[in-house]
Amino acid sequence: MKSLGIRLALILSSVLLVLVLLAGVLIERQLTRAIHNEEVDQAKSHAQTLLASLRILMLNGQGALAREWLDSMHGAPGIIDIEVLRRNGREAFTDLSTLKRVNDFLGEAVFERQPTPPHHVDQPALGAFNRALQGEVALDLRFDDEITVLQPIEASSECLTCHGYDPNPLRGVLKLSLSREKGLARIQSMRVSLWAIAALLVVIIGLTVLAVLRVSVLKPVNRLKDAIMRVGERQVELPTHWRDELGQVATVFNEMQHQLVATETRIRAVSENAFDAIITADEQGVIDSANHAVEKMFGYPPGELIGRNVAMLMPEPYRDEHDRYIAKYLMTGKGRLINNRAEVVGQRKDGTTFPLEVALSEMFIGARRYFVAVARDITENKRQTAALQHQALHDALTELPNRSLLSDRIRQSILLAQREHHELALLVMDLDRFKDINDTLGHQYGDLVLQQIAERMRQALRESDTIARLGGDEFAILLPNTGLNQARAIAEKLLRVTEEPILIGDQMLHAGASIGITLYPQHGEDEVTLLQRADVAMYMAKRQHLGAAVYDPSSDQHSLRNLALLGELRGAIERDQLILHFQPKVDLRSGKVYGVESLVRWQHPEHGLMYPDEFVPLAEQTGLIAPLSLWALKTSLRTCARYRSGDMDLDVAVNLSVRNLQDLRFPDKVAQLLDENCGEPGRLRLEITETAIMADPARALDVLKRLSVMGVKLSIDDFGTGYSSLAHLKQMPVDELKIDKQFVMGMLEDESDAVIVRSIIDLAHNIGIKVVAEGVESQLLYQRLKEMGCDAVQGYYMCPPVAVDDLIEWVKCSPWRI
Ligand code: C2E
Ligand code: CA
Ligand code: CA
Repeated sequence: MKSLGIRLALILSSVLLVLVLLAGVLIERQLTRAIHNEEVDQAKSHAQTLLASLRILMLNGQGALAREWLDSMHGAPGIIDIEVLRRNGREAFTDLSTLKRVNDFLGEAVFERQPTPPHHVDQPALGAFNRALQGEVALDLRFDDEITVLQPIEASSECLTCHGYDPNPLRGVLKLSLSREKGLARIQSMRVSLWAIAALLVVIIGLTVLAVLRVSVLKPVNRLKDAIMRVGERQVELPTHWRDELGQVATVFNEMQHQLVATETRIRAVSENAFDAIITADEQGVIDSANHAVEKMFGYPPGELIGRNVAMLMPEPYRDEHDRYIAKYLMTGKGRLINNRAEVVGQRKDGTTFPLEVALSEMFIGARRYFVAVARDITENKRQTAALQHQALHDALTELPNRSLLSDRIRQSILLAQREHHELALLVMDLDRFKDINDTLGHQYGDLVLQQIAERMRQALRESDTIARLGGDEFAILLPNTGLNQARAIAEKLLRVTEEPILIGDQMLHAGASIGITLYPQHGEDEVTLLQRADVAMYMAKRQHLGAAVYDPSSDQHSLRNLALLGELRGAIERDQLILHFQPKVDLRSGKVYGVESLVRWQHPEHGLMYPDEFVPLAEQTGLIAPLSLWALKTSLRTCARYRSGDMDLDVAVNLSVRNLQDLRFPDKVAQLLDENCGEPGRLRLEITETAIMADPARALDVLKRLSVMGVKLSIDDFGTGYSSLAHLKQMPVDELKIDKQFVMGMLEDESDAVIVRSIIDLAHNIGIKVVAEGVESQLLYQRLKEMGCDAVQGYYMCPPVAVDDLIEWVKCSPWRI
């Protein structure tokens, strides 16, 4: 049944009906009983009245009259039967047996009458009759339509006058059967009115209950129902003044609706303001909802997407795959994309496509399945990633691949060459005279030169070749599938393009380059070896002014160990593997230490402590010497500051390399280091070999002069091994020279060495330069040099080069202490 009202009314009226029926039945029974009792009482009193009348006749001995009266009473209104029964049950006043006995008792025939035939009266129920004979007024109710009263007739004292022969106190029984016609009619009418009242009551109460129900239950319930059905409108507010359960339901409903609205508003706000596109679609792919971002991202006006298939947002082949994919997923429950992120392509309304990242998931609303896609336009991300990747792998100045991209390309090319049994060539190119440009014209010019050269090289080579900038003015060129002759030809071509004049502004510049060539697999089978050997070949080309040189293992003094060391040396400074040892210089006149020379060592993790002869030449070949010298300078200055604070005031001498003398900015760097370490320029001495100066005397002189102007002291190291003359030295701002230890050490055995030493001392003194002798290993030598007028000595006899702290110990207990 659909209506709650009808249901409630039916239930209530059924209950009411049952109650009324029960009450009716009870009332009817009570009333019926009451009427019946009344009838019985009436019958009893009737019987007594009739008996009283009869007794008068009997006392007067009027038997015949009694008989007549009794007979006349038959059929009287309401009386069915009236009879006097003797104790034996026979009708009295019929035969003459009693009359005879009375006459006998009286002794004469006092009474006289005619006999009458007996009526055939209905015999009373035996039980009732016997009870009446016991003296009780008994009832015989065997028949529904009559009441029979059995009234005992007692024998009074007057009776004994005639019936004295009979000792029984009872004379007989009066049987009176009355019709119940009237009583039954009363009962019937009572019943009719009773049930009529009951029906009326049911109707009235039912209608009242229904009315009350309607007003106080059905109406609010219907309002509640209407409100719940209109919950989508979100503006239905239920009255909460009801104090009953409905009021509570209404309050809960209002609260629930507020929360629903709040949640929905929140979700809508999130969805509408989301940067990501959010789409829901049903199992057929029909778009069910799409937020603002979807329309913006795909270029559709608001509302145009709802109801259309989501595949329209994808280009082929995604469009085609989409339906098949969903169908397969629905059948098998297996889908790689569901609950995952994937990169796909989207298509805008105008047909253009763009990369998307999509997170796909499913949800159920009731039993209906929906797919939820959250999509993000990753065009910008991709662009940025690509730009970052480019940045990470390219040199910013020339846009050429950098070292790491080159390494990768070399590795790839080696793999390919291995597979296809090809050769490949790797070239390392270093610009000549680039430093001049940089130093004289400034960095801006240097940068422009590098850019122009890079561009020229790019044009000279094929697309498949890789040109990389390794740093500074160093480039590498990877030529896949290239043999020796071709590599040489390409190197020549590159040399030609670098040698062409470069016009920057109105300046005509000339560069040039040296190129080292290595080939896979002849010269090395891995990237590192090939690069190192190309580097070696490049230095050979540079030293011998060859332009380009192919790596030649026989002319390469670098053993494999050297090549390995070269690689490691790059990291040695950063890893703090280099240390300085200090060797004291002793003044021969005072016999006291006045300074130290710092000598570098390499604490190699595998080879142990390594001496400079093993790695300084390597450093000089690769340009690593510049950072190495600066490190030695800085560390020496710091150590001296430490010595000074411990009351050891010593000069410090640092060895320089040929490369330092060619760097026009070197004096500035020295000044900066002095500044940073609070060093006095006058306490710093720089040792330069003759050969270093001779490599480019003009430039070396320039650098030395600037150092000298700063107050830094300068020494010529290893004097005697080179070809410089003392006359030449005179123009140099040096004030000390160190005689090479090979002459000093040979002095005692070889007279010519002694002559050389003596003449160097004399001539140096002539032009005002002090002389230090190296390699003093014995007291004898010490003595001889003192006699020769040498100014200072350095050697194992006094002290070998020692670690920083060991020198402090030595100074404390040696005879040459400060
Ligand atoms: P050097 O400047 O001529 O240094 C003196 C070398 O002679 C040192 O060798 C020293 O240990 C050694 N020596 C000192 N007294 C004696 C002695 O009585 N007998 C013998 N047989 N040798 C003695 P070391 O330390 O091996 O240095 C070798 C060279 O390495 C140095 O020659 C120097 O040219 C170079 N060198 C050392 N440290 C540096 C540095 O920091 N920078 C540069 N550029 N070169 C350095
Ligand atoms: Ca030295
Ligand atoms: Ca020396």
